[in-house]
Amino acid sequence: MHLTKTQVQLRLSLQKGLSILVGILMAFFGPINIIYFNNPTLGCMDVIVSIFSFYCFWATINNKDKVLLHYALALVVTVSIYITAYTADFRAFSILWALSLPMVYYIMFGTRRGAFLSSIILIPSIFIINTHMVTDQFMAYRAILNYSLAHSFICFLCHLYEQQQSRNYEQLKKIALSDALTGVQNRHALEAHFCDLDKSSDRAHMLLIDIDFFKKVNDQFGHEIGDHVLVEMAECLQTYVDANNIFRLGGEEFVLLFKNHTDIEIKPKAENIRHSIEQYLFHSHNLRINITISIGVSRFLPGQSLGDFLRTADKKLYDAKSEGRNCVCI
Ligand code: GH3
Ligand code: MG
Ligand code: MG
Repeated sequence: MHLTKTQVQLRLSLQKGLSILVGILMAFFGPINIIYFNNPTLGCMDVIVSIFSFYCFWATINNKDKVLLHYALALVVTVSIYITAYTADFRAFSILWALSLPMVYYIMFGTRRGAFLSSIILIPSIFIINTHMVTDQFMAYRAILNYSLAHSFICFLCHLYEQQQSRNYEQLKKIALSDALTGVQNRHALEAHFCDLDKSSDRAHMLLIDIDFFKKVNDQFGHEIGDHVLVEMAECLQTYVDANNIFRLGGEEFVLLFKNHTDIEIKPKAENIRHSIEQYLFHSHNLRINITISIGVSRFLPGQSLGDFLRTADKKLYDAKSEGRNCVCI
């Protein structure tokens, strides 16, 4: 599963909270097991888990995104819960702590892995209840049934919650990354997209498109019609690239990204777009408006920053404006 930078940060902040909580809990149970229950083995294990959890917390606040570390933390917490449930007096019913594990897995690993791991741990829980239960006091099969139902119910709630969280996240992401007027992606999306661009590839081209004399459109027909033209412009441009490669930078400027084209191929593409817009009649409120665009083209150079990539296109756009507009400069 591909996680974006924000998703990774969100997961990291959950893992941070969880590791500090586990650290505090284990630091609490360690001395109790050693001093009060006279069980130094369990106590020492709790103290070690506590130290490891605090280390995970430290690693997370220092932004060390070590996936293995969090798998190790989940494993250590799981093992220590089952060792405690297996070795401690069963009447204390420490196995109940295993009911918290689905939450740990869902927080640490998300919906799919969380569901998988949560289902698996029902087996050792049932095994421990079945082997340790004093049957003249309890009905083992009903205890197992109740435990399994409670476990499944918790898993179900975790699942619902995680799914809702990821739906909310996707919705917020969509709002944050799209342009409110035209619906195409915005500048933030371009930045995110650029992070994912294969930096070793030099086969990406940017077309920086600026509407010519757009101020006049607003002055002549009004801002509302200007807005309408921008929406229609975005629709027209979307016919040349897929939705992932079109961005409105702001105002009347758009960016189109083309991948896997040579310098020789890109010029006629840009010319074709310019020509089609020149031919196109924008419709708004029974008006027919002719619009032209100027295009600056830049080629991505390996190792280049987005700022440099944009600056080169902007210089070319400036050249296109200086040459009288309605033209392409590469
Ligand atoms: P040039 O050919 O040099 O690009 O001239 P221009 O008039 O297009 O450029 P200028 O930068 O002078 O004006 C851009 C105009 O775009 C000014 C602003 O009113 C208008 N504009 C920016 N954002 C919006 C918007 O969201 N809606 C509308 N209707 N107009 C906008
Ligand atoms: Mg402009
Ligand atoms: Mg303009």
